[in-house]
Amino acid sequence: NGRLACVGLGMLLGGHLSPRAEAEIRSADVVFAAVSDPLVELWVEDMHADVRSLQSCYAEGKSRHRTYDEMLALIMAELRAGRRVCGVFYGHPGVFARMPHRAVALARAEGFAAVMEPGISAEDCLYADLGIDPGEVGCAHFEASQFLLYRRRIDPSAYLVLWQVSLAGDRSHRRYASGRAHRALLVDRLSEDYPLDHAVTLYEAATLAIQRPRADVLALRDLPDAELRLQSTLVLPPVHALRPDAGMMSRIARLDEVDP
Ligand code: SAM
Repeated sequence: NGRLACVGLGMLLGGHLSPRAEAEIRSADVVFAAVSDPLVELWVEDMHADVRSLQSCYAEGKSRHRTYDEMLALIMAELRAGRRVCGVFYGHPGVFARMPHRAVALARAEGFAAVMEPGISAEDCLYADLGIDPGEVGCAHFEASQFLLYRRRIDPSAYLVLWQVSLAGDRSHRRYASGRAHRALLVDRLSEDYPLDHAVTLYEAATLAIQRPRADVLALRDLPDAELRLQSTLVLPPVHALRPDAGMMSRIARLDEVDP
């Protein structure tokens, strides 16, 4: 009877792995690794004798939907053969990563035990490195292409975080970067809610202990020419203070009068 665990390694090589995630890796029959860096793969290989890289499923020009279907098929085949399977992902396996959620759901639908072990995501590192508390004024997260392609309501008194900003506007799901013109459209969309000189941050968490995180501050208008990498995340701080809701405040004050 097969069992699936999708676990996160965290962002920092050798530094973020939880004891529970490590136990899942060590006790599995087979480990599938979808991690961004060959060094990270070597680290996982230190923990298990049968680590299979899912990296080969990616190819330029191939739809990422197909890539994820292939990864899922590899995982499910071992599970259906009755093995204990561990899927290893960088960061958190369920944050801006659809495949591990699909794998857990499919495994459960077929009657297998399946769990997800959280990991330290880019989001967690961002709060620590940039000194942001998402509870202070609120913080919204969107995938950059989805943000561009659909009408969303932005609250410019909260933080806005855009993921996969280097792929912004890519509808094909086949490319590994979108162009300057796409980013100009992103700036255009953001300029509906933010001034063009708004100071935004390009953020990259350190993945090796010897690195420092990237936190480049630039004007929103300069985004099209900025150096964007697959691991870049864009952070827009609030542009104005919280606006009190006087109507709600007086309704609450009236409640307090009745029931002090
Ligand atoms: N599951 C991952 C996590 O828990 O952070 C996120 C995977 S998502 C497919 C990829 C996106 O995560 C990137 O486009 C970027 O926005 C963000 N990301 C990945 N690595 C990062 C890093 N080192 N620093 C900041 N953001 C990163």
